[in-house]
Amino acid sequence: MEIWGIAVSDIVDVANQTAEEAIARTLANRVQRVVTVRPIDCTECGDPIEEKRREVVAGTEHCAECAKYFAERDRLFNGGR
Ligand SMILES: [Zn+2]
Repeated sequence: MEIWGIAVSDIVDVANQTAEEAIARTLANRVQRVVTVRPIDCTECGDPIEEKRREVVAGTEHCAECAKYFAERDRLFNGGR
């Protein structure tokens, strides 16, 4: 089957390719946004989170001090388990 002298299978190929490209682009954008949205400052105390810590603990929202505090608090509340 042909439309305007172009095989329909070719049109479908191009359409699929375009859709795949659009999906790939959307995903790439989303990943980039997630990375850039990662907080630079601690959401608890507002202190800047160490660059190294942000690299090691991917997506962390708390500075080392607050994380330590939360861990200690969790230990106390959930202790004895
Ligand atoms: Zn903090």
